[in-house]
Amino acid sequence: MIDENKIRAVLRRFFGFETFKFGQKKIVEAVLNGEDVLAVMPTGAGKSLCYQLPAMLLEGTALVVSPLIALMKDQVDSLLAKKIPATYINSTLDKNEIVKRIDLIKRGAYKIVYVAPERLSSQFFLRSLSQTKISFAAIDEAHCVSEWGKDFRPAYLRIAPALEKAGVSQKIAFTATATEEIAQDVIEALKMKNPSRFAFGFDRPNLSFFVERTKNKAEHVERLIRETKEGSVVVYRASRKKTEELAETLRKKGVPALTYHAGLARNFRKYVQEKFAREPNAVIVATNAFGMGIDKRNVRKVIHADLPPSLEAYYQEAGRAGRDGEPAECYLLWEPDDINFREYLID
Ligand code: ADP
Ligand code: MG
Repeated sequence: MIDENKIRAVLRRFFGFETFKFGQKKIVEAVLNGEDVLAVMPTGAGKSLCYQLPAMLLEGTALVVSPLIALMKDQVDSLLAKKIPATYINSTLDKNEIVKRIDLIKRGAYKIVYVAPERLSSQFFLRSLSQTKISFAAIDEAHCVSEWGKDFRPAYLRIAPALEKAGVSQKIAFTATATEEIAQDVIEALKMKNPSRFAFGFDRPNLSFFVERTKNKAEHVERLIRETKEGSVVVYRASRKKTEELAETLRKKGVPALTYHAGLARNFRKYVQEKFAREPNAVIVATNAFGMGIDKRNVRKVIHADLPPSLEAYYQEAGRAGRDGEPAECYLLWEPDDINFREYLID
């Protein structure tokens, strides 16, 4: 296994980043470990780095299969600007240029080569690959193998047999599309072996996110609740005491807020959960103990009145909004003291 210092050094030197974005580290480690990988991350989450960084750390050339022909030149140009030897082969190039690039690939001149899936139908190309040391194949926009995906491409179905013919065994696949049907299709169509699966956040186009600085949390929360025409609201707080206090304040102002935290008697928690599930316009103030097993479809707002403990927790809690696919909003309220409170809890 390549040690962490080396990974960070390459991250800094070639990519100019001091830290990983959420989820990248685990994926990079799995790739370096030789595993097949299926990673689901939303657009903008930084999927490219998850194959570009391992490509730099492993011996040989990484093959990237992508349907986005229009972007290949830009991607390669940006790699070249980072002094990463890379190229692409697709139908925008003339035959001479293709032959020239394939010759350079065979000589190991590149760390990263982008191809459109159609290229893998070329026997000449596959023969050349089999004479090249390929570190792994990365399949970007992998939902394209699935007939459930929006942009199904027959050429994607030929990836697995082609890679086998070329002697490429490690396959890592990336997509922003998160349904289980598509994941199963990808694993099957790409003939992945016990892939390590990662899912960091999802594309939830019906959710809007707001971060708002506040001077009075109770008033701020009350306003957000009153602005909700219909549907339910979940307010998360960081401690039992704050949960009780906020719910009490809201009730005094006429907002019938439920309370939920792990300090309440089991029967009472059950009663609260059922009431929340049943009432169409329920409001609940809760700690992170609330949520497991809750699947209410019409949550229109999830309000974090305190900073959540981690990005992962935030995704999970905010993700409870808008399960019905209708527009929903996620608010993160903060004041400078909150940062001190989190630091105190971390200490
Ligand atoms: P995706 O393919 O998941 O949509 P990209 O790979 O295009 O996302 O990356 C999205 C943006 O995130 C790019 O601008 C990229 O430079 C940036 N990015 C990727 N990794 C990091 C990192 N570790 N630190 C900071 N920015 C990053
Ligand atoms: Mg991408």
